[in-house]
Amino acid sequence: MTEDWDVIVVGAGTAGIPTAIFAGQRGAHVLLIEADERIGGTLHWSTGQMTAAGTKMQKKLGIDDHPDWHWDDCYRISKGEIHPVLGRLAIDEAATSFDWLTDNGFEPAVGTPVAGFGHEPHRVRRYAWGENGGVSVLETMEPLLDAQIGRGTVTLSLETRMTRLIVEAGAVVGVEVEARDGTTAEILGQNVVLTTGGYAANPELWAELTPGRPLRSYCNPYSRGEGIMAARDIGAAVSGGDQFLCSFAGIMMDPADPLSARGGIILNPAFRQPWEIYVNRAGKRFVREDHPSVDHREHALLEQDGMEMFIVFDEGIRQNSPNLFSEIERKHAAKFFGDHPSYFKADTVSGLAEKCGIDTANLEASVIEYNDAVEAHTDKIFGRESLPRPIDTGPYLAIRAVGFTVLSPGGLEPDAGMRVLDTSGNAIPNLYASGEIFGKARLSGATFLSGMSLLPAVTFGRLLGQQLLTWEGARAAAE
Ligand SMILES: Cc1cc2nc3c(=O)[nH]c(=O)nc-3n(C[C@H](O)[C@H](O)[C@H](O)COP(=O)(O)OP(=O)(O)OC[C@H]3O[C@@H](n4cnc5c(N)ncnc54)[C@H](O)[C@@H]3O)c2cc1C
Repeated sequence: MTEDWDVIVVGAGTAGIPTAIFAGQRGAHVLLIEADERIGGTLHWSTGQMTAAGTKMQKKLGIDDHPDWHWDDCYRISKGEIHPVLGRLAIDEAATSFDWLTDNGFEPAVGTPVAGFGHEPHRVRRYAWGENGGVSVLETMEPLLDAQIGRGTVTLSLETRMTRLIVEAGAVVGVEVEARDGTTAEILGQNVVLTTGGYAANPELWAELTPGRPLRSYCNPYSRGEGIMAARDIGAAVSGGDQFLCSFAGIMMDPADPLSARGGIILNPAFRQPWEIYVNRAGKRFVREDHPSVDHREHALLEQDGMEMFIVFDEGIRQNSPNLFSEIERKHAAKFFGDHPSYFKADTVSGLAEKCGIDTANLEASVIEYNDAVEAHTDKIFGRESLPRPIDTGPYLAIRAVGFTVLSPGGLEPDAGMRVLDTSGNAIPNLYASGEIFGKARLSGATFLSGMSLLPAVTFGRLLGQQLLTWEGARAAAE
């Protein structure tokens, strides 16, 4: 593995696969290295929502859309924080990437596209996903990658981890890798593309880049930020880690394990109106539980101590309300109460407060106040409209829920050609990148632009392979 490659792609995930496919289609001699024993990266986890304006799918459905309108929505939702160059590029190129997927067999799930799902809605039905989420995207790209492997343009090396970048005279000339058996090698290449993903599975790097925001994540365990660290070691700029917004809200399966966050409770009023109240550790309500804006509720949770809250209810609500759990049956959830470190049960409200470690007097007052609002059909404090029944029928129940993440906010700073910039703003010769390695905030700011991580990773990978990367063979062909 010491030969000189035209392109070395580090990470065979969402961004790395299209980079290799398109560079291979142009005849490049590509080495695609992957730390895991399989390709796909975060596509195995991702919900797979993608936004694109002006797609063939939309045209077929008679949906009038334009990248300018997509930009306006993203600008509005991100409160102006979407990156003016990269965000615009991702949006302008989104339809081409989406059409590439559908032309190659990707099928949007029944009922899509939609205007909004789980996050702030767009004004047009423009976001779609496959029946198997991110895996549907992988299933579309994998045969195209296999075709390049079959042609001999791409060589895939699994269980091969990049450990550092090799630099000569200020330019990147290759990577050092370590195989699973511990053997190491130096590999040389004209271009190195880092597509190693984010850092939401690396508690130490998270604490450094996103300080003050506790890490509770649900993500690919290989999202360890190794590409970010390797680039930083040779002078790359890293930023955006402070632009964090948590998701609302997850349960820690093991409170001692920061990577054990799981979704699965339906806290979005668009899908289920709340019957419960949410209190912080001080025992006080802090948000209108049925506020229609996910962004509003996420920012409210972000500001709570420890980014944590308790979903407080009672046996009457448990038995009568629509199911609070999306992934587990009501009967399974029932047996968690009292047995699981995130589920609490007591005969009285004060007993519940004690078990949760919440301020007792405040929780009792919050419950009384809420019950009064139910009786009066008016929540004077938060303006909540969903007031189905009081919390007055023991046993009393609580679930500790936390702001969690599936993405990391910070990362490398690229220019419009996906070249990695150093701390002086200069491109590091021969070093490129794509995907979550730029940080989620690069495109979205401190908010969620649903569908603006996965497809931009595909798009930037496609553009790298298709046109941005050059190598000696390509230069000769162009001359
Ligand atoms: C639960 C969940 C839901 C999501 N839902 C959505 C959604 O609906 N819409 C959306 O837009 N985004 C969503 N995202 C985010 C989006 O899927 C990711 O940001 C995107 O897929 C990341 O692509 P990537 O190529 O940067 O990283 P990845 O796909 O993670 O690929 C990185 C690859 O690099 C490999 N690697 C890492 N380190 C090394 C190393 N040192 N050497 C070699 N290989 C290495 C990894 O094993 C991995 O295969 C979601 C994420 C999660 C976790």
